[in-house]
Amino acid sequence: MTPRLLPFVLLFAAFTAQAQPAKPAAWPAPWLGVHLLVGSDAQLNDLVDQAPKLAAMGVNALIVEVDYNFDFRSHPELGRPTAITRPVAAKLAEVCRKNKIRVIPQLNCLGHQSWAANTLPLLTKHPEFDETPGQYPANKGIYCRSWCPLNPDVNPMVFDLMDELIDAFSADAFHIGMDEVFLIGSDFCPRCKGKDKGELFAKALNDYHAHLVGKRKVEMFMWPDRLLDAAITGDSEWEASKNGTFKAIDLIPKDIVMCDWHYGNRKAYPSVPLLLGKGFRVWPAGWDKPDATLALARFAREQMNDRMMGHLATTWGKVKAANLADFEPLKAVAEEYRRP
Ligand SMILES: [Zn+2]
Repeated sequence: MTPRLLPFVLLFAAFTAQAQPAKPAAWPAPWLGVHLLVGSDAQLNDLVDQAPKLAAMGVNALIVEVDYNFDFRSHPELGRPTAITRPVAAKLAEVCRKNKIRVIPQLNCLGHQSWAANTLPLLTKHPEFDETPGQYPANKGIYCRSWCPLNPDVNPMVFDLMDELIDAFSADAFHIGMDEVFLIGSDFCPRCKGKDKGELFAKALNDYHAHLVGKRKVEMFMWPDRLLDAAITGDSEWEASKNGTFKAIDLIPKDIVMCDWHYGNRKAYPSVPLLLGKGFRVWPAGWDKPDATLALARFAREQMNDRMMGHLATTWGKVKAANLADFEPLKAVAEEYRRP
C-alpha cells in the first residue's frame, strides 16, 4: 500500500467499522427468553423441572427477578434466609447450563422500591436512601418509591447484592430493571432537587454499567421505557417517559440490552426501530395475550436487524413456575420463531 492511499484506507476501515452493527453475544440467536418473578427455593426447583421442556421449545434465556428474595450474606438485613438460597440457585444454574439456557438474575434498581403499601427492604432498613424521605406515608399518592441516585452510600450496598446474585447463579449477565421510575429528581431530595431528570437517570445507568460491565464483565439488561420519549413513540406514561428521563438515551453505553416491553396488540411498535436506530440490541418483550405477543414478535422480526434479538416472554403472575412451558403466549411465540 502506498503512503498516499493510507489515509483513504484508514477512513474506509473506520467507516466500515462504524457501519457494522455490534456483534451479538456468543449465545445463539434468536433469543427466546422468559421473565419470571421468583421468591423461593420451591419456585426455583419448579424451574429446574421445567428446564428440559423449555429448552425443547427453543427457550434459551431465563430472567429470574429475585430482588430482595435471597439469603444475602453481605447485607443479611436486606434479604430473607427463608427465600432463595445458594445451593438451589446453583442447581438451577447447572441444569440450565446443561439445557443451554442462559440464567440472568434481576434486581430492580432505582425505582420499584415499594409495592402498594409495602416498602421493600432497602428503604425500610435505610430510609435515608429514599428519594422522597419522610414523604407519602404508607406510599399513598405514589406508584413506587425510588432510591436516590446521588446518595453515595447506596451503590456500594447495591453492588454487593448484585455480586452475590451474579455469583450464586454463575451468571454472565444481569438485569437491573429500571422501569416505571416516576420519582426522580424530586424536590424532596436535597441532592437531586432541580437537577435534570435525564442526566440523573443516565448517571444511575452509567454507575451500574461501570460495576456490571466494567468491573464484573457481565452484560447489562434493562427495561427501556424511561429512555423513550412518549411524545415520539406515542406510548402511555408507563411504556414511555413523560417525565424527562428520555434524554438519557443518548448518554449511556450502546452495549446495554434493551428489553422493550409492550403488552398491547398494535400495528406498529415505534420504540423497536427507535432503539435499534440508536445502536442498541433490542429484546422485545410481550406478556399475557398471544395475539399481542405475536403482533410484537412479527413487527420486530420485520425490522431485519442483526441487533433485534428475538423475544422475551414476561409472565407477571399469569403462570406458575411449575407450568411455565404451558404458558400460551410463550407457546405462540416459540411456534412463530420456528417459522423461517
Ligand atoms: Zn436524590
